[in-house]
Amino acid sequence: MTKQLLGKYKLVLGLEIHMHVKTVQKMFCGCDANFYNAEANTYTCPTCLGLPGALPVPNLEAIKKTQLFGLALGCSLNKNTKFDRKHYFYPDLPKGYQISQYQEPLCGEGRLELSSGRFAEIERLHLEEDTAKSFHAGDKTLVDFNKSGVPLMELVTKPCFTTVEDAVDFCKKIRDLVRFLNIGDADMEKGQLRIEPNISLRTAEMEEAGDLPKYKVEIKNINSFKFMEKAVRAEIKRQRKLLETGETPVQENRGYDEYSKTTVPQRTKEEASDYRYFPEPDIPPMVFDEKYFAKLKAQLPELPAEKCTRYITELGLDIPVAEALTSAPVISWLEKFETLVNSGADPALVANLLINKPEFRGLSDEEFLSKVADMQDRVDDVGALEPVIEKVLAANPDVVESYKSGKVSVLEFLVGQVMRDTKGKADAGVVRELLRKGL
Ligand code: ZN
Ligand code: MN
Repeated sequence: MTKQLLGKYKLVLGLEIHMHVKTVQKMFCGCDANFYNAEANTYTCPTCLGLPGALPVPNLEAIKKTQLFGLALGCSLNKNTKFDRKHYFYPDLPKGYQISQYQEPLCGEGRLELSSGRFAEIERLHLEEDTAKSFHAGDKTLVDFNKSGVPLMELVTKPCFTTVEDAVDFCKKIRDLVRFLNIGDADMEKGQLRIEPNISLRTAEMEEAGDLPKYKVEIKNINSFKFMEKAVRAEIKRQRKLLETGETPVQENRGYDEYSKTTVPQRTKEEASDYRYFPEPDIPPMVFDEKYFAKLKAQLPELPAEKCTRYITELGLDIPVAEALTSAPVISWLEKFETLVNSGADPALVANLLINKPEFRGLSDEEFLSKVADMQDRVDDVGALEPVIEKVLAANPDVVESYKSGKVSVLEFLVGQVMRDTKGKADAGVVRELLRKGL
């Protein structure tokens, strides 16, 4: 689908993904980070209000969770890491800077396999603080500081995506992984997962030579995967048109307008130098050692991708079943799947029920197991049923006769006889089939 859209051009797409880290306290103060149902400006203190003289103290829980996520993505972890100030002015950032990470992020390069078999290349993963939230009411702008200072991970990929499908798949995998590891809830509607794709187009020759375009356009304010797909497609269309007339698109931020189905300019994009980054003087640099990293690695559970492979090779699940089981929304029932399988239930049957019969997901393990036992008991093995069928046919010659003379409704009588002989465990459909053959 992407190909048609691109014409003779090739897509160059990179992603910046911001995600809330679920912690008890905010990133640099003791305020409660679970602010979702709170009245505006009630979860605040001098630090997250950005008052002069207030000192930030880093939240170790947020740091650990970010490093754990980095490990899950195969990222290298940096032993020496620090926080930096990123300067810009905005009403929801009264300090005039955001505490972020620039040159020494918590995590370096990593990669993640996509459903297409290609790999997403991760550039870095760092930790920062979220800003406050501004509202526009009539001619007034109001600011709520409850969100100010909530821990925020930022994942940056290389411009490695060549199709829209790969980019969306990556974002979904990231969301699933954050939830699976209980690092965050990644609810896009709540702003806990924010995606900013940057897009440019190049010719096949440039791709061949590994040359990147001289511009990129970042798309802001994406609040769903569907929206992201639409926005990227619209932006590809716009850039292609410009390039075809010999123009080069301007480097800028754009937003997607659902109404006109086009992207509209927001502001020209800052370069890193515009932010005047420098080391955060109120927080000493952090140093981690191998022992700490080893402990962290030991905490990393078997990941969905690893589970998927194991389910195929060890449990004999079909590839699409194993893939469906280890991705949203079924991924939240993986623990249930493993408990049930460990209790002796048939893996393929349990997987099928969890994927296709959502009403089974709410059952207790005992209820689930007893229902599964009933189903597994069902005799649908032709070899086991044939002797029973022969016996029933031999014992009822007159019924067989009337069936052959055209009274097909008597078949159900014979089905009933087989069911009685198998104590109701025979699969009625299979029995009916076999009886028809035998007659
Ligand atoms: Zn605070
Ligand atoms: Mn950021």
